Formats: sequence, structure tokens, C-alpha cells
Amino acid sequence: MDVSSLLDGLNDKQREAVGAPQSSMLVLAGAGSGKTRVLTHRIAWLMQVEQQSPYSILAVTFTNKAAAEMRERVEKVSGSNMGRMWIGTFHGLAHRLLRTHYQDANLPQSFQILDSDDQLRLIKRILKSLNLDEKQYPPRQAQGYINGKKDQGLRPKHIDAGGFPIEQNLLKIYQVYQESCDRAGLVDFAEILLRAHELWLNKPHILEHYQERFKNILVDEFQDTNAIQYAWIRVLAGSTANVMIVGDDDQSIYGWRGAQVENLHKFLQDFPAAQTIRLEQNYRSSGNILNASNELIANNPDRLGKKLWTEDKDGEKIGLYCAFNEMDEARFIVGRITDWQDMGGNLSDCAILYRSNAQSRVLEEALLHKGMAYRIYGGLRFFERQEIKDAMGYLRLISNKNDDAAFERIINTPTRGIGDRTLEILRSTARQQELTLWQTCLRLLDEKVLSGRAANAVRGFMDLIVNLQQETAEQSLHRMTDHVIQASGLKAMYEAEKGEKARARVENLEELVTAARTFVMPEDLEDMGELNAFLSHAALEAGEGQADAFTDAVQLMTLHSAKGLEFPMVFMAGVEEGIFPSQMAMDEGDRLDEERRLCYVGMTRAMKQLYITYAESRRIYGRENYARPSRFIKEIPDDYVQEIRMRTSVTAPASTNRFSQAQASFNGSAFNDSGFNIGQRVNHPKFGEGKVTNFEGSGAQARVQVDFLDVGSKWLVVAYARLETL
Ligand code: ATP
Ligand code: MG
Repeated sequence: MDVSSLLDGLNDKQREAVGAPQSSMLVLAGAGSGKTRVLTHRIAWLMQVEQQSPYSILAVTFTNKAAAEMRERVEKVSGSNMGRMWIGTFHGLAHRLLRTHYQDANLPQSFQILDSDDQLRLIKRILKSLNLDEKQYPPRQAQGYINGKKDQGLRPKHIDAGGFPIEQNLLKIYQVYQESCDRAGLVDFAEILLRAHELWLNKPHILEHYQERFKNILVDEFQDTNAIQYAWIRVLAGSTANVMIVGDDDQSIYGWRGAQVENLHKFLQDFPAAQTIRLEQNYRSSGNILNASNELIANNPDRLGKKLWTEDKDGEKIGLYCAFNEMDEARFIVGRITDWQDMGGNLSDCAILYRSNAQSRVLEEALLHKGMAYRIYGGLRFFERQEIKDAMGYLRLISNKNDDAAFERIINTPTRGIGDRTLEILRSTARQQELTLWQTCLRLLDEKVLSGRAANAVRGFMDLIVNLQQETAEQSLHRMTDHVIQASGLKAMYEAEKGEKARARVENLEELVTAARTFVMPEDLEDMGELNAFLSHAALEAGEGQADAFTDAVQLMTLHSAKGLEFPMVFMAGVEEGIFPSQMAMDEGDRLDEERRLCYVGMTRAMKQLYITYAESRRIYGRENYARPSRFIKEIPDDYVQEIRMRTSVTAPASTNRFSQAQASFNGSAFNDSGFNIGQRVNHPKFGEGKVTNFEGSGAQARVQVDFLDVGSKWLVVAYARLETL
């Protein structure tokens, strides 16, 4: 392949970066300007023009998927096999290094990786052995402490806990934890990075070997590296390697996880010879999307500053949809995807992005309802998530005490002192006597086989289930669900665990209450009872599993996981104050800028069409909220936005405010035959209080749709419904 083709398909600035003489370089540029493309071409250039061996190249990407894509792209551009090139994530590369030099890293050859669930379990055991109360030292908090210290490069011996007892105990936990990992030959994720860094520091001959080897180091998404990752690169680079980093300070979205955008400045100090190249042309998004994103991010202070432009046409405006509620929002999105599909588009060209994982549930439901394949990127479907399965375990056991799978799942979740030995006795007795676990417990208690403590614990658990069953016998499904997640201690257990992940779990549990509240009993299943119908609904939804990689499927993901990706059609759902920006970011003012960057990341994923949706009222996390549109929507100038009404034939009068009167034009007319108005609050003798969200028909056929606080959305015939206005 000749040199010129390596520069084909690049603009002048990109060529300058790709073909620059060998030295260090910072490519600082906004979204979609071709940073990743430059990095890929640079690798090919180094090999073909600078005659560098693939062996001399180390390339770091943010995800395994990105690494695989990059390898493929480099192979395509350069036409050769890149098997020997080191290309991967920080964790992947560091792990490879430790495998090669396990002895020098003080690890047994067979060392294993401890994933974060296993890590948590180990920490729990250690708390117990140290006689520390889990309430005072929530295991997840200890986990966060340990990982945080490791990310900063700190071993217990480097930490001074001062005179603070809590800090001292956390330090103690870290110490004991580390000792047991070392004994067992286990490394957690943070350990992989730290140990790889220490390998450089402690074994100069190894460092020298790699410094000799990796003359070319390239890092994508540099703005999201943390302290230890940067230190690792910096030490490896020494004074001779050429380091090319590409990044965008406006897309730094992992500050909460220890990423340091200051690393960009550090890099310029540490590599004073580095040239900075800025790319300004965007190739991804059409004009309206790009300009809107630029305007949005301009609201952030302290930016390194850059302005993106595009040669592309203005294209479609950003579709802004004000939904009545979350279900209406999901229906709208699915409707637009259906239109796209009808016009010959692929489902996989469509991405739905949201701020928090719990938001996926309603969207999943609408997609399932439509029979549309979807895939949740970087996560599980709602009903497959651990905390949801835990809660469903309680409901299942209430419904059927002989459900052994549910029994196993929750007997010690949250922990209630039923040890492995007791469980083993239960299991083997059940096997021998061909009983279910519940029956076994009854029998063993009856025969007084279990030790006093074990017997008490088992009895406590059984009482809990029986009480839950009695307490909820007369309750509606959602009150029952709510009661169960509280009284079982499940919610408190997750609440006690600190960190982003635990918070998402609590949100999901609360969202389960909403799922129960809005659950519509299928008519043919009425005999089955609401609880059982709900349980099978959940099992079926979970059971469908992810669409496999080959199925054309809509892509669902959080905004965080969308980094670096692009899609012709993007939906950003739930763009409301309190959701995005999240309540937490609003409470802690300094995190608003990071939320805005996240919004910028989301918007700039879109190539042709971007829809932003928000709902006037939303049930989420088990509560009903009347939400306001996100401040981010207001930061986008009207010129780039097209508001979409419900049935689009009638638009609101020009004078109406974008955010208030969306309903006025609903159904083509502000007037209707039902005698009710959209948004009006009403009371129903059986369903209680609700809000009118839709109407159709006239005269005796007039029907209204009411979103009831307690039972969700229902269509009612006005003539029979005995609705009162409030
Ligand atoms: P992000 O910040 O989101 O990671 P990026 O800066 O890495 O974006 P790329 O993903 O490399 O951007 O490029 C965005 C899109 O523009 C890709 O589809 C890429 O193929 C295309 N592209 C980049 N440069 C050019 C070019 N010179 N001519 C045509 N298309 C280009
Ligand atoms: Mg990129």
C-alpha cells in the first residue's frame, strides 16, 4: 500500500498529525473530528513510512470493543496482520504484562482475577473476621476505599490514617484484604494497574526492556485516564518514546471515578517537546446537531476551548418531544424507530441513551411490546439485574414457598447468619428426603436437628416470609412490592452500600415498584392472580435474554457507555431536571459541568437525527414526579430545534411557550367531546385520583385515558366511568 493512500480521506490537520515527524503529540479536538481515525492511521503510518515494527507499538483504548475495532481498522489500512501489536485497554495490557512477568510481580503463575462481586464477598468475610459491623462499615464503602487508594497508587504502608478510628479501620480492612488476596493469588481490577506500575518501579531491567521495545505509545480518550494509568504510561515512556495522546476535555465524564482531566496539562508539562494539534472539522454530525452541541458545551467554564464546524448540510433539526409521561415517551421513540425501519433503516442504526439504568425498563417494555429486537450495551436487561432478581425472589417465595431457586437466592440476602454449613445440611437433607428446601427447614426445625443458632436464623427467615405473606395478602401488587423490598431489608442493604453502582441498584428497586404499579393484567391470565401474572411477566422478560450479536437490534445504553460510538439516529430520553442533570449533580453544584459534558457526549453521538425527549410527569424509582425539562434543553438555541407535538398535524400557536402548552394541540384540537381536558385531575370511585392524558371518540363512545396515581394508565368510557373533576 502506498503512502498517499494512508493520507487519503484525511483533512490537512489530520494529515499533519498522522504524518508528523516522530515526536510526542497531543491531538486535542472535539467530538467526531476524527481523533480515533487519526490514531488508527498514525499507527499504519508508523509502520509503513517510518518502518516501525508492530512490535514497537503500544495502543491504549477505552473498551475492549474499541480495541478490537482499532485492530481491525489498522489491519485494513495497512493490509497486514497485527497479531504482535499490543493494543487494548489499560487493564487488558497491564494484565498481559503481569502474566508474562508473574514472578517479578510476586504473583503465582496461576493468579486469578477477582471481579468486583467476588471482591465484595471477600471484603464481607474480612469484616466478619475483624468483628467490624457491616452497618458501620458498609462493604461497598470499604471496597470503594480500597480501589480508590489503589487508583492513587497507594499501598497500606503509604497511608496515614491519623487519629480517625473509621479511617484506621478502613485501613486495617485494606491491609487484611490485601494479605488474603496475596495468599490466594488473587488480583482485583485496581490491583492489576497498580502492580503493573510497581513492576516498572521495582524491576528496572523489565522497565528497560519495554522502554527499549515500545518506542511508540498511543492513547485514545486520554481525558478519562486516572492517576495510576497516567503514571504507568509516563514511566514506560521514559525520555525516549513518542507518545501520542488524543482526547477532548469536553468529554471527560469519569471524574466521579477518579479520572483526571488535569492529566492533559500534566502531559504537556511532562513532555515539553509535544506538539499540540487541534482538529476542528467534524465529520460525524449534520450542522444542526453539531451547532447545538457547541452551544450547549459553551456554557461550561474552564474549557480548553475549541470550535467545531462541518461541511455537512444543516440536516434535520433536533426533534424535541414533550411526552405526557414515561410511557408516552417510550411509545414515541418506538414509533419513530418503526418509521425508520419502514423506510428501510436498520434497527442497529438507532440508539436510545439514558442517564440512569433504571430508565431502561419502560423503554424495554415498549420495545418488547412491539416485538422489536434490542440489546443493552454494557449492561443487563431490567429483569435480569441482581437486585431485581433478589426482590423477585421474595415475591416468588411468598407466592410459592417451595420455589427452591428463589429460596436459595434470598435465604441469606441480606445476610442473616445462615452459614454455608447450615445451607449444606439443608441441601443434602432435601436431596436425600426428596423435599423442597422449605419443607426441609420445617422438618429439621421440628426434629431439632439444627444447632441453636442455626435453627434461630432459619426460623427467623421463615417467619419473615410468612409474615410478609400475611401482611401483603390484601395489598395491591405495588404496595406489596414496596413492602417486601423494605421489610426484607433488601433496600436497606443496598442503601448502606456506597457508590454509584449501589445507588443504581436502589433506583432499580424503586423502579420495580413502578413496574408493579403499572402492570396490566393480561385478560386471559386473570385466574392466575396478579402476583403470579406479574412473576411470569418478569420471568419471561428476563428469559428472552439479549438479542445476540448478529441480530439487527436497537441499541440501548447509558450515556456513559456511549462514549466514542456513533449512530445515524439517536434518542436521548428523560432529559429532565433531577434525572439529567441528576439530582445528585444538582445538589453538588460542582458536578453540573460534568453532567453537561455528558450531555455533549450524548448529543454528539448522532450522525443524522437526534431526538431529545422529556416527560411532563414521570413515574420513576417508585414515585410520581412532575418534572421540568432539563436546563440543557433550554441551553440549546431554538433555531436548531423542532418541537414535535403529539399528533403532529396541528402545531401550537406561535406565542405558546415551548414548555407549557404542549397539550393544547394534542389530538388536533384543544376541545373535545369528553368534557375533560388533558392534564385535568380527576377522581374515580374505584381507581382513585389521576390525570387525564388522552381522549378519543365522541358522544356515547367518548373515552378518556387517565393516568391514575395508584393503578397506572387506563382507558375509560366517559358515560360509565363516573369521573369527578378535582
Ligand atoms: P469521539 O470524540 O466521539 O471519540 P472522534 O474524534 O474519535 O470522536 P472519529 O470516531 O474518529 O471521531 O470520527 C468520526 C466520524 O467521522 C467517523 O465516522 C470517521 O470515519 C469520520 N471521519 C473522520 N475523519 C474523516 C475525514 N477526513 N473524512 C471523512 N470522514 C471522516
Ligand atoms: Mg474517538
